[in-house]
Amino acid sequence: MKDRILTIAKEIRPQIEALSDAIYANPELGNREYKSSELHAELLKKHGFTVQKPYLGLPTGYRAEYRSPKPGPHICYMAEYDALPGVGHGCGHNMLGATSVAAGILLKNLVDETGGWAVVLGTPAEETNGAKVEYAARGAFRDLDAAIICHPTSQEYYKSGASLAMETIEFEFFGKAAHAASEPEMGINALDAVLLTFSNINALRQQTKPDARIHGIITEGGEACNIIPEHCVCRFYVRAGKKAYLKHLYQQVINCGKAAAAATGCKLQMRPFELGYDDLATNQRLDSLFAECLGEFSSAKVEDPGEASGSVDAGNVSYVCPTIHPYFPITKKSIAGHTREFAACTQTEYAKDRMMETACAMALTGYRIITEPQTLAEIRREFKALK
Ligand SMILES: [Zn+2]
Ligand SMILES: [Zn+2]
Repeated sequence: MKDRILTIAKEIRPQIEALSDAIYANPELGNREYKSSELHAELLKKHGFTVQKPYLGLPTGYRAEYRSPKPGPHICYMAEYDALPGVGHGCGHNMLGATSVAAGILLKNLVDETGGWAVVLGTPAEETNGAKVEYAARGAFRDLDAAIICHPTSQEYYKSGASLAMETIEFEFFGKAAHAASEPEMGINALDAVLLTFSNINALRQQTKPDARIHGIITEGGEACNIIPEHCVCRFYVRAGKKAYLKHLYQQVINCGKAAAAATGCKLQMRPFELGYDDLATNQRLDSLFAECLGEFSSAKVEDPGEASGSVDAGNVSYVCPTIHPYFPITKKSIAGHTREFAACTQTEYAKDRMMETACAMALTGYRIITEPQTLAEIRREFKALK
């Protein structure tokens, strides 16, 4: 099977490189990836996929499917193609998306014999309002058996690690303006409510678990020193290792805002100001299967990624479908993500070699899930235990 995959990979490589390079040359921000998503859809159609676009109401989202006439598991590769302001494809999503498209096309060439489906999901706006959150909530993964995405990084291959669950909250306090010197007793100070919210949260920090992260800013803090501020606003990101604990922590943060409103006499309105992300619950069996498959195409060691730091929208997928989010290197050097230098790495032969071997490993992973019922049963058992 390895040789068969390598032969097809060699044939499609020029098209995959052209896809990655064209998107690199024309970076589009989240939810505005019109050309990028169209290039994906065109290539997948050319290879026999049926493409729904727009998908679930997102104009730059798509779902491409190739269904074998025979039954079997449904394997999904998730593709991103959004860029960053100022630094273009500083996160390498031009290459990430092309890798998933390649994996989908490779698997498509195998499923006529094995059964099953090859699915590529185009997931817009990972850097801002990640579409995977909406997809997961609206049942996009209901009929899928595994969801796989591999992200570019520097230096090493990394296993699919963990990411932090995250929620956002905006507190808006309404007080009463008054002359700050002559009639302060007539006022209700909304800035004090904001400052007390920060103080309450700082007091809370002593009783939080080590993985808790609460970080905020004041977006409105009053108009003039001689007016008691009547309208002030602050915003926080609240993060934790697991979404179960995050739920509790989030409620504690809300209580900090409510207490501040009570102490000052302000009215309080609150709302999430961006989509929240679940933590990434990596399916370990699926991750070890991917590492085994990668070993067929690369001699590189797959490293442990260490502790969770950021948050990814694939986290939400991991609670509705067995999911992995490992990393492949696009440079041997240590280069920070979200930079022009990192974007430029996607243009090198080194990166393109790694992209193709990663796509081959993703396809072989899908093939093995389809042809090894025992492996799929193990993946499912682990996923059920998570729920
Ligand atoms: Zn990024
Ligand atoms: Zn990224």
